[in-house]
Amino acid sequence: MSWSDFKREANFIGGEWQGADSGAAIDVTNPATGEVIGTVPNAGRAETMRAIAAADRAFESFSRTTADERAKLLRRLHAAIMDNQRALAELLTIEQGKALAESMGEVGASAAYVLWFAEEARRAYGDVIPSPWGERRILAIKQPVGVVAAITPWNFPSSMLARKIGPALATGCTSVVKPATQTPYSGLAWGVLAEQAGYPAGVVNILTGSASEIGGEMTANPIVRKITFTGSTPIGKILLKQAADTVKRVSMELGGNAPFIVFDDADLDKAVEGALASKYRNSGQTCVCANRFYAQAGIYDAFVEKLAAASATLKVGSGLEEGVTQGPLIDDKAVAKTESFIADALAKGGRVVAGGKRHALGGQFFEPTVIADATPEMNFAREEIFGPVAPVFRFETEDEAVRYANDTEFGLACYFYTSNLARAFRVTEALRYGQVGVNAGVITTEVAPFGGVKESGVGREGSKYGLDEYLDIKYVCLGL
Ligand code: ADP
Repeated sequence: MSWSDFKREANFIGGEWQGADSGAAIDVTNPATGEVIGTVPNAGRAETMRAIAAADRAFESFSRTTADERAKLLRRLHAAIMDNQRALAELLTIEQGKALAESMGEVGASAAYVLWFAEEARRAYGDVIPSPWGERRILAIKQPVGVVAAITPWNFPSSMLARKIGPALATGCTSVVKPATQTPYSGLAWGVLAEQAGYPAGVVNILTGSASEIGGEMTANPIVRKITFTGSTPIGKILLKQAADTVKRVSMELGGNAPFIVFDDADLDKAVEGALASKYRNSGQTCVCANRFYAQAGIYDAFVEKLAAASATLKVGSGLEEGVTQGPLIDDKAVAKTESFIADALAKGGRVVAGGKRHALGGQFFEPTVIADATPEMNFAREEIFGPVAPVFRFETEDEAVRYANDTEFGLACYFYTSNLARAFRVTEALRYGQVGVNAGVITTEVAPFGGVKESGVGREGSKYGLDEYLDIKYVCLGL
């Protein structure tokens, strides 16, 4: 199949492709060209209620399938993704902008999550617990939570669904999914893939449209037993509040403000390589992208110089073009926000040592930027940049670096480079984050638990822990 075969301009509800009840549609644009590439339905509450009802009906039988049956279906889904990796990657780049190599990587990661959960499906073990009573036996069994609602962002339009749909399908949950409005096609493509893999109608339902109406119904509807969200902290807080009324299970993967610390004793070239990968992936638009670089005084100048030189080698352009590593930002708002971080830093004494402005290509393209002499008063010290800007702060001591790194309400990913083993342990334990990269700048994998602490969220995705998020524990007391 080609990418256009996956570009579905309809929603997937109860196994059928449907438009919005009102007939209304939303334009989808290619961020590299500004061209409208198609439309998707502008669905609201009524369609969401129908999708939830379809998921509820499907749950009756799907929840009773065996783990082996579910594992087989997931392996078919994995094959469907890998058979179409290139087409799905092209579609992803066309609607999202990232370089094709990154899109290939993302689609590969989606498949990897699906395969991981195919394997984990058969390992949802319970316990037999030693009983305090001679005439009773005690068991703990795990059962699917029920209908799951998922809301996903535009920066990973394929793999964020994989992390949610994968464990749902592995445990016997059915789901209703809303992909981000900017990048709906990679989300709707999961409907095509589910059909190819042979899932029964209603097991996976995918809706596009009004975020507040769809999200409002997902959180208010008592049939939905779990809400899983990846996106910004402010929206996560709204969903948490809304979900409270029906006491749903929640998984929240929210914003980050990742520090990246380089100690004097680090291998500088490796640190620069890690910094580049961590900062500029998806043009800086990931929640685990390094947001604040802290370089120790002894290597500060050398690190800034090397990072600036390396940033200048990155190739900006359309993601479909050979050799391009930096696609456009998602929209005009993102470009304006990136510019405002730079203007704020310059006004407060920052120094641009690489990039610093919109790219000559125009549109939503931006130069990879490095800012030296960053200070805690600058806005990016507290806020997530979500663009290709690398501010470098100076520090003197280990304690100071840890204090700066922890001085944020976020706690998703953090990174540091050192060759001192004792320091590696000390600093790892002191950093209040869900994920730590030590001498590693890109650390996400399906086998490891992804997630944050503090206002970066609750719950973990991927790994064996990611399965438990979709399972309830039932205690059984059996009298003999
Ligand atoms: P981002 O900064 O990644 O765009 P958002 O949190 O704004 O993050 O969006 C992430 C997802 O949440 C998207 O699918 C978006 O449509 C959805 N969303 C935005 N507002 C709401 C809302 N009020 N209720 C439910 N979902 C929402």
